[in-house]
Amino acid sequence: MPGLTLLVVILLLLVFRPGGKELHDYHNQGKVFGTYYSIRYLAPQDLEQDILQAFDRFDRSLSMFNPESVISAVNQNRDTVTDAYFEQMFREAMHVSQLSHGAFDITVAPLVNLWGFGFKHREDVTDQKVDSARSLIGYRRVQLIDHHVRKDDPRIMLDASAVAKGQACDVIAAVLREHGVEHYLVDIGGEVVAHGERSPGEPWRIGITTPTDDLTGTNDQLQDIVASRDICMATSGNYRNFYYDGSQRRSHTIDPRTGYPVQHTLLSATVVAETCMRADALATASMVLGADSALVMINEAGAKAYFIVSEGDTLRVITSKNWDLTSQK
Ligand code: ADP
Ligand code: MG
Repeated sequence: MPGLTLLVVILLLLVFRPGGKELHDYHNQGKVFGTYYSIRYLAPQDLEQDILQAFDRFDRSLSMFNPESVISAVNQNRDTVTDAYFEQMFREAMHVSQLSHGAFDITVAPLVNLWGFGFKHREDVTDQKVDSARSLIGYRRVQLIDHHVRKDDPRIMLDASAVAKGQACDVIAAVLREHGVEHYLVDIGGEVVAHGERSPGEPWRIGITTPTDDLTGTNDQLQDIVASRDICMATSGNYRNFYYDGSQRRSHTIDPRTGYPVQHTLLSATVVAETCMRADALATASMVLGADSALVMINEAGAKAYFIVSEGDTLRVITSKNWDLTSQK
């Protein structure tokens, strides 16, 4: 039965690579950088140890919660030499600050702390405290020179939270590629890099969550699904990380120009870009700018965006003109 023999050969080729190594589906998951990670891939062996080592290297560079990290040393004015992750983050942050005309700003840390979202505890916020924190903000006031950060005031501090998750996705994707992995989905706290297929003939499918108030992070209602074989996508939203101050809702996205948490009808911003680091930064910048100005920035950046805005009691989807990843238009 030649037909059957051929079928058996094809099946064997699917399971065994020509090199002779059997491929398996792996799913590594856990907690990192105060959020979850979920990494699926097809490989000859489990790469969890390599992934954890990469997380560790990344944490020692950019974690604000690790007092020994490079970014902590910079914030505490300890003399330190910056590493490749830090420098990549810094250059990207500066680029997106320019693209967003200052809506995105890694020197926002004093305001993030004041409003209770940083590594310090929430203080009673007064206009005076906002003004004094605001006087320390400005991406043009920090420079990277010869692997050192120069600040024009020692009280200036950096916050890489809006780029780091996306950057970590890029880092893990690179680790997988170095091991020859072609099919993978890296998800760190909702920022995603996907490549190849989840099973033969099936692209990866990534949900865009419906933004309903969800402090526990358990809402899994989907607004839409993106199917792709090659994508870097990040979502920022103000529906998971916020608190009420009297009747005022305080979100974790701060407008560095006013010093106050943003209050827009834009509830969530999903951005697709060349790298997940850029998508992450652009998504946060979009939340600061609001839908209209954000679309201008997204076009200038050559990225794609899917925004969900509230309109009275309903939700409306607004996409950039080039958005072709869901059936919405
Ligand atoms: P999420 O994916 O959780 O929505 P983001 O990627 O939008 O998070 O990052 C939000 C974090 O970025 C905040 O918690 C704060 O640390 C920091 N941040 C807030 N406002 C700004 C800003 N204007 N520019 C840069 N970083 C910001
Ligand atoms: Mg972000």
